Amino acid sequence: MKRVVITFLAVVLPIATVLAQTQPGARSESGLDLALLDKGADPCVDFYAYACGGWTRNEPIPADRAAWGVAERLQEQNETRLRTILEAAAKTGASGADQETRKIGDYYASCMDEPAINGRGAAVLDPALKKIAALSSVRGLAPLVAEFHTIGVGAFFSFGAEADFKQADVVRAIADQGGLGLPDRDYYYRDDAKSVELRKQYVEHVGRMLGLTGAKTGADTVLKIETALAKDALDAVHRRDPAAIYHRTTPAELQALTPSFDWTSYFKGIGAPPIDALNVTEPDFFKGLNQVITSTSLDDLKIYLRWHLVHSSAAVLSEPFVKENFAFYGTTLTGAKELRPRWKRCVQYTDGDLGEALGKAFVKEAFGPAAKEDTLKMVRELETTLEDDIKGLSWMTDATRAQALVKLHAIANKIGYPDKWRDYGALQIVRGDALGNSQRANAFEFHRQMNRIGKPLDKSEWEMTPPTVNAYYNPLQNNVNFPAGILQPPFYNPKADAALNYGGAGAVIGHELTHGFDDQGRQFDAAGNLKDWWTEADSKAFDQRAQCFVDQYSGFTAVDDVKVNGKLTLGENAADAGGTRIALVAYLASLGDQRGKTLDGFSPEQRFFVGYGQSWCQNIRPERERMLAQTNPHSPPRYRVNGVLSNMPEFAKAFSCKADAPMVRANACRVW
Ligand SMILES: [Zn+2]
Repeated sequence: MKRVVITFLAVVLPIATVLAQTQPGARSESGLDLALLDKGADPCVDFYAYACGGWTRNEPIPADRAAWGVAERLQEQNETRLRTILEAAAKTGASGADQETRKIGDYYASCMDEPAINGRGAAVLDPALKKIAALSSVRGLAPLVAEFHTIGVGAFFSFGAEADFKQADVVRAIADQGGLGLPDRDYYYRDDAKSVELRKQYVEHVGRMLGLTGAKTGADTVLKIETALAKDALDAVHRRDPAAIYHRTTPAELQALTPSFDWTSYFKGIGAPPIDALNVTEPDFFKGLNQVITSTSLDDLKIYLRWHLVHSSAAVLSEPFVKENFAFYGTTLTGAKELRPRWKRCVQYTDGDLGEALGKAFVKEAFGPAAKEDTLKMVRELETTLEDDIKGLSWMTDATRAQALVKLHAIANKIGYPDKWRDYGALQIVRGDALGNSQRANAFEFHRQMNRIGKPLDKSEWEMTPPTVNAYYNPLQNNVNFPAGILQPPFYNPKADAALNYGGAGAVIGHELTHGFDDQGRQFDAAGNLKDWWTEADSKAFDQRAQCFVDQYSGFTAVDDVKVNGKLTLGENAADAGGTRIALVAYLASLGDQRGKTLDGFSPEQRFFVGYGQSWCQNIRPERERMLAQTNPHSPPRYRVNGVLSNMPEFAKAFSCKADAPMVRANACRVW
C-alpha cells in the first residue's frame, strides 16, 4: 500500500532502493575498497570512472534490481539484519514475546504465507468492491473516498497533515494533488514515441489488473480520468516552489472549488478534527477535480475507484496481481527483470507499516551509543565549518548574513532513531490476514496524521524509519535527520580512516545542512516559516550563482536523449556542492598533525575525494535512469561526483589536474 502521509517538502537524499553479499574489499591501510578503483582511468578526465570503474565492471545489477550501487548494497545488508529479527519474532508466536515483537512477527509471517494469500485469491477484495458497486449517486462518493484514503487507496487526491507553511509551529490539514497511476503528471502529456508507447503499456496493464478483479473493460476510462486529473496538476519542477503549493483555504472555500464533492462528509469519514483552515496546495487541481466528477458517468467513476483499489493493494494480493504489478512498475518502468524474493518484499512492507517497532530492534543491534556520539560530533564540526563559510561569503551582505547565522544556529540534529518510539498499541495485527494488516496499518497511520491536526508541531517525530539508507532536511522544522541505516560502513565506519568517514557520512551531513540554504530551503526561516529573510540584492546574488548550477547540470545527459533537468535538480546539486566542500574543510581541520600522511598511496585530500566518489558507485538500468531524470530532484550519481568535484579547485589541486582537464571548470559554480 502507498502511504498517504504527505512528505513532499522533506528534502530527501534518496540513495535509492536495493542484493548480493558484500564482496570483501581489497586489503587497504585506510579502509578504502581498492577493488572499486580503476587505476587505468585518469582522475582529471572522469573521476567517477576512476573511483568506481571496478564497481561498474564487477558489480552487475542483480535481476531483481533496477539499480545496484554502494547504497543499495548497504540496504541489502540492513534488510538481511531485519530478516533475522523478523524470522525470530515470527517463530516466537503469541507466547512469551512483548506486544511489539508479536506484531512485527505476525505481520511478517502473514506476508510470507504465500499459499494462504494465493488460496484466497481475488476474493479478499470483495468487501471493498461491493462498496464500490453500491455507490448509487455522486453524493455517495465523498464517504467512500474517505474510507479508501484511510486504508491507503490513493484515488482522486491526497489528504494528510503538515505544519502550516506560514505558522510552522501548528499542524494543519493539507489537501494535495493525487489520484494518478503514472509517476508524474507529465507522463500523461509527453508526446515523444517512448512516452506514447509507455501510456499504451500502462493502459494494457490497467486492463489486465481490472481483468483480475472480474471487470472486462475500463482501462481507457481510467486513462481518460487520470489524464483529466493530471491536466491541472503541477509538474515536479513547479512543486519545488513552496509558494505554488501553499494556499490557506477555509472548508467553505474548498467546497466552492469542488461543489460536486461533499467535503463535510469526507471530513467526517476520515475522522478529522474540526478544521477551520487547511492548505489546499493547488486550487486549480481541485477545480479540475470537480470538472472530472461532473463530466464522468457514475459507472466510469466506479471503474476508476476499482483500479485504484486493486493498484494500491496489489503487493499483498495473490500471485497474479503481484506479477502483473511487477511487470509494469518493476520491468516496464524501471527495467528490473525479476521480482524480489518474497522475504525482501515482506521485510520492506513490515518496515513501511511497523517501522519504529522493527527499527527499535534494528538499532539495538546496529547502532550503539558510540556511533551516535561520533555522528553528533561530526555534525557539530560541520555546523561550525558552515558558520565560518557563511561568515566569509563575499557576495552576501551583513544583514542577510546575520539572519543566515540565526537559522544555522537553530537547526536541530536528529541522529539514528527517535528519542520517543511510536506506540503501536492501537494497531491490530492478525496472523493470516496480510491485506487486512496492511489496510489497518494504513488506517493507523492515517488516523495518527489526523490526530496531529490543530495541535502544536511535534518535531521529535521522524519521517524515515531507523534502518533507512537515506537522510533528510525538513524545512518546516529546520532539522536534519540521519537514520541509523545510513550511518553504517562504508558511509560511517569507526575502524576506517577519518578521510572516508568525512567523504561518506560527512558529505551526507553537509548535504542536509546545506539544504537549509538551497534555493528552496532558503525561503524558510529559522522557525520553519515560509518567510523572506533576504535583502533583494542578496537574493539576486544567490539566484545568479544558482543559475550557474542550472546551466551546468542541464548540459549533462542522463540517458539516451534525456538530459538532466537543471531546474528540478538545483536544490540537490547546490546541497551536494556546499555539503562536500564543508565536509572537506571539516576533515582537514580535524587532521591536526596527521596532515600529509599518505595511506594506500593517497594523500589525505585524495582519500577524502576517493571516499566521496566511492559512496556513489552505482550501475543502473536505462529504464530507471529515464524515470528518475523525469521525476527525481537528484542528479544521477556520476554527476553527483563529477559535477561536484569539477567545481572544486581543492579537487584539482589534490590530483594535480591541469587547468584544461575535463574535471577542472573554467566557470566553476559555487553558492556556499
Ligand atoms: Zn538532498
